[in-house]
Amino acid sequence: MPNIQEVGHSSFLIDARNVIDAGNILRTLGEKSIALETVWVTHSHLDHIVDLAFIIDEYFDTRTKTLKIMALKETIDALKAHVFNNVIWPDFSKIPLPHGEGMALSYEEIDLNKTYTLENEKKIKAFTGDHTVASVGYKVSSGNSAILLSSDTYSLEEVVTLVHEDEQISTLVIECSFPVRMAELAKSSKHLTPELLFNGLKTLENKGLKLYINHIKAMYQEEIIKEIEVYKKEWDVMILKEGVTLEF
Ligand SMILES: [Zn+2]
Ligand SMILES: [Zn+2]
Repeated sequence: MPNIQEVGHSSFLIDARNVIDAGNILRTLGEKSIALETVWVTHSHLDHIVDLAFIIDEYFDTRTKTLKIMALKETIDALKAHVFNNVIWPDFSKIPLPHGEGMALSYEEIDLNKTYTLENEKKIKAFTGDHTVASVGYKVSSGNSAILLSSDTYSLEEVVTLVHEDEQISTLVIECSFPVRMAELAKSSKHLTPELLFNGLKTLENKGLKLYINHIKAMYQEEIIKEIEVYKKEWDVMILKEGVTLEF
């Protein structure tokens, strides 16, 4: 059974070389991060990119391959302007690796119409998200099954459409940031509450999908988990914790 592993704040290790997002992944991966070659970034918010800075910096001397960031143009522009700008952090796309070929960092714009093939015949494809900044979610497939990761989102319409169109998808990872009473804040910051989440997924209820929930704000954790129990009904739900392996 194929799997991916949650390795930090909203970060998912697809294989040794590929990871989706880079929020606090070093504390889980440590030296294993040296093998990373591509980070598939969902959007520019700090909790999804913070360790991009340190993956390169901490192991600069050991890395032999360029770290490639795959993302939307808007996300790449934001990273160039606000992170790797020689003010907040060095522009590693201009700094050659001392023990490898090429620069320490590179950027590639993601093609939303393209399915990219990774190691062991895993495949990855981005789809448009609904957040306060440009964002994508990802479908990762292997053999006959696939997992869909929403990343931070308010609308689940795209997720629902994709699942209805695609028999491969067996597993969903959906964010849930706020408790039900904070629906207004969820709407303005484009996140979900348990009520919004299960309403949004209503037409998928009887499809036998496995549902993982992540991105729960630590402060409201207990409250959100209680609410998930109330709203989940027939759903097979698991709350994601760091280090968990997701099978699909
Ligand atoms: Zn976000
Ligand atoms: Zn986030």
